[in-house]
Amino acid sequence: DLLVVGSANADLVIGVDRRPGAGETVLGSDLAVHPGGKGANQAVAAARLGARTALLARVGDDDYGRLLLDSQAKAGVDTVGVLVGGAPTGVALITVDPSGDNSIVVSQGANARLTPEDVRAAASLLAAARVVSLQLEIPLETVAEVVRAAGAGFGGRPGPRVVLNPSPTAPLPTDVLAACDPLVVNEHEARFLLSDAPVGSSDDPEEWADALLSRGPRSVVVTLGAEGALVADGDRTVLVPSPAVTAVDTTGAGDAFTGALAWRLGVGDDLPTAVRFAVRVGAAAVTRAGAQASFPSTEEVAAL
Ligand code: ADP
Repeated sequence: DLLVVGSANADLVIGVDRRPGAGETVLGSDLAVHPGGKGANQAVAAARLGARTALLARVGDDDYGRLLLDSQAKAGVDTVGVLVGGAPTGVALITVDPSGDNSIVVSQGANARLTPEDVRAAASLLAAARVVSLQLEIPLETVAEVVRAAGAGFGGRPGPRVVLNPSPTAPLPTDVLAACDPLVVNEHEARFLLSDAPVGSSDDPEEWADALLSRGPRSVVVTLGAEGALVADGDRTVLVPSPAVTAVDTTGAGDAFTGALAWRLGVGDDLPTAVRFAVRVGAAAVTRAGAQASFPSTEEVAAL
């Protein structure tokens, strides 16, 4: 039902008393290695909910690549589309201080080598999907090729619906923006995309949602952390509140939200219904530490 096309990274995390400045060495905690990357996170989030999910991504022929393949397989993701080799697996080097502030260096590695050609070679995966979910931790030309192929359809059948979370932020080509149904942004991403207009400095998320919708996507979802999410589909703009939970760690909440949303759209929910489910998944994910480790099962979502 769902195809995620995106990044897979190993997150290498060290706790420090103080993050080092230029030329400085600090001693930190034991190293923790976690599977991550927005694409890998979204796929695991959906599969853990019971979604039939495949991942199109690229990892290195190395231990981190095998860690990522393993975590996908354990969650039940179809990994036939996870390509191996061409560069080392993508890595995020993360230092976290006691206040929770972090400094992160990302080596894109194999993620930067996921090419439009790889997308064309995976046409059968795209043709089989009802929804394809994208983010921007892979080359923009690769994202654009997915959008083109989805728009062209397969043998007279329409291609998958496109969901895009434009993170990390980048200017979006008009045709990519126009294909999004929905474009999923948090506050930071909304403000970035609207930074050329006065509304970008507004404090009213409804204004962002309406302004983003006027840029061409078929629908827009603005996630608002503990507040929930705004849905704008042209007919109306509605706030879907999040259940109140005690937040422990918000890492990966946006990925859990988007993975869940994309899956529910793929099985036929309308957009507000899918968002009502996704805010519960996002809320459940913030009640536990970690990214993929925090993603809930359907039973845990129902218990909220
Ligand atoms: P991102 O993680 O991309 O910055 P948000 O912070 O908007 O995105 O979170 C995405 C979703 O996760 C929200 O729409 C909400 O459903 C859920 N969420 C995040 N933080 C909280 C929180 N403190 N309480 C409840 N739900 C939350």
